[in-house]
Amino acid sequence: MKGSKIAGALAGLLCVCGAMSASAEPVQVYWTTSGYFGPFDIRGLIPALPADKSRQITIPVSMWVIKHGKDVVVFDTGNNVAISDGGCKSYWAAGNCDFLKPSQRREDVIDMQLKKLGIQPDDVKAVVTSHSHLDHIGNIEMFPKAIHVIQKKELYQAWWPEKFQGRTSPGTFVMADIDNAREFNYLELEGDYDLFGDGSVKIISTPGHTIGHQSMKVQTAQNGTIIISQDAVWMQENLDGYPAGLNFSVKAYTDSVNKLKMMRDLEGAKLFMAHDGDQYGKMGGRWYK
Ligand SMILES: [Zn+2]
Repeated sequence: MKGSKIAGALAGLLCVCGAMSASAEPVQVYWTTSGYFGPFDIRGLIPALPADKSRQITIPVSMWVIKHGKDVVVFDTGNNVAISDGGCKSYWAAGNCDFLKPSQRREDVIDMQLKKLGIQPDDVKAVVTSHSHLDHIGNIEMFPKAIHVIQKKELYQAWWPEKFQGRTSPGTFVMADIDNAREFNYLELEGDYDLFGDGSVKIISTPGHTIGHQSMKVQTAQNGTIIISQDAVWMQENLDGYPAGLNFSVKAYTDSVNKLKMMRDLEGAKLFMAHDGDQYGKMGGRWYK
């Protein structure tokens, strides 16, 4: 009896120590959107969907603000500020404007979203970019002082996409999003990375949508593990087995979707997707602590 009490007390102590070392700093995550795309037929993005699953969708352009103690991280910077308030065709290809129908207002852009949270762009320590498509890397030039975290292959692809993906700019890769960012500091990754060295904010390599797409996994105190897929998983239909219609490699994409699903199930994590209107409607525009 006495022995088991001592063992229990020791186990309690070990548990406290374990919890402290697992997350040195409290982590908070804010989910916001750079306006919306749509409405359009979901099969424009997911052509594999059968006709009876067709519906009109309006989807968010997900961006994330992560606080790790006092350090601020931005995960994706949305559409370029120039497309705000009807300016799309002055900056993007007309076909992309007509198909995506972006509704971004100036106040939706990442610098204004940060301002609402009391954060200046120069106070952002790291900008993590999932991939170099127009709705994710659009405003990295607003963050000249940050360390930019991106997969090395993705940085190369941003400058020189494979011909089948289209090299004309503006296309899905927009040179003007990055042309003044060549001298920035890039942490060029080749795989997974532990951003603060304490396991609380992890970059997860999820190639397929583009050659060097990356996702994020965050540990919070009250909401547990949060997986932020960005375009590794656009929306629920992709989890249901219908592949996205825009991929560098369908095989790598499928492997990445399956990896994130199993990671979610093993860790009991929440999986937040980049462009799911229903999920954003229920869960977006708020902090996860
Ligand atoms: Zn996207």
